[in-house]
Amino acid sequence: MSDCNSCSDNSCAARNQGAQENDEQFARRQTLESRLCSIDKRILVMSGKGGVGKSTTAVNLAIALSQQGHRVGLLDIDLHGPSLPKMLGLEDVRPNGSEEGIHPLEFAGLKLMSIGFLLEKTSDAMIIRGPMKNGAIQQLLADVVWGDLDYLIVDCPPGTGDEPLSAVQMLGKSETAAAVIVTTPQDVALVDVEKSISFCQQLKLPVIGMIENMSGFICPHCDKRSDIFKSGGGSRLAEQYSIPFLARIPLDPRIVVAGDSGKPHILSHPESECSQALENAAEQAHQWWQKQ
Ligand code: ADP
Repeated sequence: MSDCNSCSDNSCAARNQGAQENDEQFARRQTLESRLCSIDKRILVMSGKGGVGKSTTAVNLAIALSQQGHRVGLLDIDLHGPSLPKMLGLEDVRPNGSEEGIHPLEFAGLKLMSIGFLLEKTSDAMIIRGPMKNGAIQQLLADVVWGDLDYLIVDCPPGTGDEPLSAVQMLGKSETAAAVIVTTPQDVALVDVEKSISFCQQLKLPVIGMIENMSGFICPHCDKRSDIFKSGGGSRLAEQYSIPFLARIPLDPRIVVAGDSGKPHILSHPESECSQALENAAEQAHQWWQKQ
C-alpha cells in the first residue's frame, strides 16, 4: 500500500487535513485514498432496476477485461443482496486478514470482495441503513488489500440510492471513475434506466456506455428469434442521450445455469453470442478509457 507521507503528489486531496476533519477522520481518508491510489480506473456497473442482469454483466465484464491482460478487481457493494459469492461458487470461502488489511479472494485472475464474504453465513441478512452503508462501503474499499489494479469493477445495487452515491463520492469523478449502465429492453425498465443516466449526469460521472441485456431469445430447437422483453429499447435510449451502445446480450438459459453453478458464462461458454458480446463490450470500455 502506498503511503501518503512519502508521496510526492502535492495536488492530492489526501495530503492535508480538512478544517472539519478530526485526526481519526483524516487518517481514515488517507487510508482510503492511498488504497485507491493504486487503482487506475474504476467502473461502476449500474442499473435502474433489479433483475436485469447487472451482476451477471459485472462478473463477466471483469473476467473479459482480465482475459484481455488487465489487472482487475471486482467489488460487490450490494449490501442487502450480494450475488458475487453465489455466482462464483465461493459461498463458503472467507478472506484472510493480516496487519495490512483484508486480503481479497481470487478467482480466474480477479481480486474479489463482497460483503457476502464477510458475513458468518451467506443467508445472514445485513441489517444496515443510511450513513452506516457509507461506512461499510468505505471499509470494503479502504480495508481491503487491493494492490495495483488497472480496473476495479464495482457491482452497485439497482437504483440511485446510498450505495452508488457513496461509491461515486469515494471513487472519484471524471478522471478515474465512470459508469456502465445495464438495462433490459422493455419500457418499464427503460423508465428506470433514465434515472440512472440522470444520476450520472448530476454527479458528473461519465457514462462509458449502455448494455441491453435479455435482448431477444434464439430458440435452441427451431432457431427462431423471440423478443421476450422487446428489443432495441436500450440502443434507442443510448442514442437519445448520446451514450455509446456497448452490447446487445440475448437471453440464454445457460447464463442462469452458469450464475447458479459458480462458473461464469464467459468461462463456461466462451464461444456463445453472449460471451462474444460481453468480450466486445469489455474491449470497447477499455478503448473508451484510452480516449480520455
Ligand atoms: P441483477 O444484478 O440486475 O439483479 P442478475 O445478474 O442477478 O441481475 O441476474 C438476474 C437473473 O437473470 C439471474 O438468474 C441471471 O442468471 C439471469 N440472467 C442475467 N442475464 C441473462 C441472460 N442474458 N440470459 C438469461 N438469463 C440471464
